[in-house]
Amino acid sequence: MRLGALEAGGTKMVCAVGDEAGHIEKRAVFPTGTPDETVPEMLAFFEKEQIEAIGIASFGPVDLRVGSDTWGYITSTPKNGWANYDICGAFTGKLGVPAGFDTDVNGACLGELLYGNGRGCSSLVYITVGTGIGMGICAGGHLIHGMLHPEAGHMLLRRAPGDDFAGICPYHGDCLEGLCCGPAIGARYGIPAAEIPADDPAWRYTAYYMAQAAVNLILTVSPERIILGGGVMGQPRLLPMIRRETERLLNGYLKASQLQDMDSYIMEPGCGGDQGILGALELAAGVCK
Ligand code: ADP
Ligand code: ZN
Repeated sequence: MRLGALEAGGTKMVCAVGDEAGHIEKRAVFPTGTPDETVPEMLAFFEKEQIEAIGIASFGPVDLRVGSDTWGYITSTPKNGWANYDICGAFTGKLGVPAGFDTDVNGACLGELLYGNGRGCSSLVYITVGTGIGMGICAGGHLIHGMLHPEAGHMLLRRAPGDDFAGICPYHGDCLEGLCCGPAIGARYGIPAAEIPADDPAWRYTAYYMAQAAVNLILTVSPERIILGGGVMGQPRLLPMIRRETERLLNGYLKASQLQDMDSYIMEPGCGGDQGILGALELAAGVCK
């Protein structure tokens, strides 16, 4: 089967053609402008291909409610031109193929489940720590949707003693994203997160809050593994610190065998950056089943 895939991000759009086994044949990347600027470029890419379906994993919030009049739409984003935008319709209408649709992070979660470090799991959490914090959740083999879809990047946390940074989330101030996304770490220290030295105590706060998020997810979703991706995880000391802090906060409460080896329980992505587009490809395969 020839399938189309779109990983729709706030800064770039990754388009690919591939098959249901995760082979990517060709791809193109377009900077995210307004829909009027960017969608015609993407359509021109896909129109040349004989695809049977398209999978779209999109930045959100998005409407995933089956039967909703606005299923397949990006809903309330501040991004210019994309609010209440029928992103699925823009492709299904012009290409004449069905679309599979989910959040960007659920797409990445699916990609990791099938081809990355989530292989063999049926319950997996994928967290991206970048410009924002997003989480894709698969529980019992199903990507979680629900009333809207999980927005666990905004979970509320216990503050570290002595930490009086207000956080940068416009809605909550010091939610997880408000404290730990790249721009928040940058705002806290007055230099870009990527320039903070690896041995700076700055990373202790980040690890403490990220570990609280991991514990909250372990206690609610009970994933078999947690994958941490995104630009901030480019800080090499962070992943080991989050693992140790997660162990400390769990304090031996859960006896699951997976938790006995934290180094293989909380892991980096295993798809070399392709987890999102591979997940989108599988969303396309899903509508053909
Ligand atoms: P996006 O979330 O927009 O897709 P990324 O996942 O690439 O983008 O994340 C971008 C964020 O990651 C920026 O805020 C940047 O400061 C931060 N970042 C990039 N590299 C590093 C690094 N090596 N250490 C810490 N933070 C980093
Ligand atoms: Zn928030």
